[in-house]
Amino acid sequence: MSSKDEGIAIFVCRCGGEIKSINFEKLEKYVKDSLGTSEVYFFNELCRDPSAIRGNLKGKNVKGVIVAGCSLYREALIDAVESAGVNPLSLELVPIRELFLPLSRESSGPATLKLTLMICSLFNKINHLEPELLREVKPMKIKTQSKITRRSLFKALPQALTVYEPAPVISREKCLGASACKFCIDACPRKALSDAGDGRLVLNYEQCNLCGVCVAVCPTGAIQIPNSTDEQLDAQIRSLLTNYREETQNRIIMFISSDDYNYLLSRLVDRKLSLPLGVFPLELPTLGLMSENVLLSSIIYGASGIIILLPRNKNNLGYLHILYHKVHAAKNIMKSVGLDPDRITLLEFDEQDIELLVEKLNEISSD
Ligand code: SF4
Ligand code: SF4
Repeated sequence: MSSKDEGIAIFVCRCGGEIKSINFEKLEKYVKDSLGTSEVYFFNELCRDPSAIRGNLKGKNVKGVIVAGCSLYREALIDAVESAGVNPLSLELVPIRELFLPLSRESSGPATLKLTLMICSLFNKINHLEPELLREVKPMKIKTQSKITRRSLFKALPQALTVYEPAPVISREKCLGASACKFCIDACPRKALSDAGDGRLVLNYEQCNLCGVCVAVCPTGAIQIPNSTDEQLDAQIRSLLTNYREETQNRIIMFISSDDYNYLLSRLVDRKLSLPLGVFPLELPTLGLMSENVLLSSIIYGASGIIILLPRNKNNLGYLHILYHKVHAAKNIMKSVGLDPDRITLLEFDEQDIELLVEKLNEISSD
């Protein structure tokens, strides 16, 4: 069976009926109509037994899995997916509880549409996954720092909590060769890249912490993160911004690193806050993946605005000055074609004041 025959399974948790802002019947119809797939499974409380998704994956040729559920049990989901024989790097999560629980029933129209768009955009992201890249990299299992607060609920929680991280993959076709160009070797703060002696690059997986500096400095785009390639990112953004255009006009993409996203979600839950409905978070393993192309194509696909949430911890982030440079370049191009460059906002993430952050996001999305 070719990779084209592989399906993408979607699991949606109703969070015990607590989420009033989502109309799950409409969601099912929207998702099935938009994607032409019937592989959408609903659960009442997936957190009680995440391993249940394994039963639905049994005997199926699955390319990827999307779970709209609570991000607290991400690790247990990874285990469930892995035990069903699916590469855990092709699991995508929409944190439905964190994003939609605080919203009222009155916002059910736009909230249901937002969730539909998020699920569909991840479907398109997985559809553009390059299985060869995933095969090239052995995902690294690392200990997570996550704190689980509802432990008793997690019957299927593994003893040792683990998460998977991808590692950069270097394209031999695109790489100029370490004898001609050493940008990535020189820039890597962990000395994880070296010259094999014949011009090829060697990555020391143990040293790499996925900071993204090498991706940002490479002049030819030869370094990719296997589950977040340029093509995947483009497909995800296009899907997020171009579907159901007549229903909602105001869509702002907020790029955020995985670390900060997890932190933000936990703080939103603590403070019983939600992101504005018009703000669509787009999680990246590292903001080193941001480029002028990503920014400009987001505008071309119809983003009314772009927010880049700057990392909380800026230590050793060698890509930051490159990111500023790329944002500056994108703004200049926008200005030169008569577009308002202020549609791109670099926003500081003040972890002490989540209320202020949400206030700023509300201001930007209501402009
Ligand atoms: S992601 Fe960071 S640590 Fe890993 S090879 Fe690239 S620059 Fe080095
Ligand atoms: S920066 Fe890019 S082109 Fe240069 S050696 Fe590294 S991977 Fe190859």
